[in-house]
Amino acid sequence: MFRSHMDAALSEARAAADRGEVPVGAVLTDPAGRVVAAAGNRTRELSDPTAHAEILTIRAACAAAGSERLPGHRLWVTLEPCPMCAAAISAARIAVLYYGAADPRMGGVAHGARVFDHPQCHHRPEVYEGIAAEPAAELLRHFFAARR
Ligand SMILES: [Zn+2]
Repeated sequence: MFRSHMDAALSEARAAADRGEVPVGAVLTDPAGRVVAAAGNRTRELSDPTAHAEILTIRAACAAAGSERLPGHRLWVTLEPCPMCAAAISAARIAVLYYGAADPRMGGVAHGARVFDHPQCHHRPEVYEGIAAEPAAELLRHFFAARR
């Protein structure tokens, strides 16, 4: 049975905004559909430019599984992943990627590096974009408008 986890990812994005982080959230589900990790951006809090929501969920799920790969897992992200996260998604062998808003500036899936389209990309997840894109984009607009 299909169940969207984008609402939970949006909650993570909102929590990230409350911490002063760029509001991006991610949820990772296992092959049975159970949530195994959820996170928002923590780059400022952790002083770590790699602490994107996607990376944090992949790290947590891999650590819990005791494996560097997450076959059959699905990742829900509020924003188009950047090239770093797209590479991590591929390396983790994640089966399906659902994302919300497109990111023409920093995205690496449908824009820029288009990581999954490279011949050197050995694992390409199924990709579904535009899931709850409007609330995800609105969170980002609101966040950046407030900081201007
Ligand atoms: Zn990223």
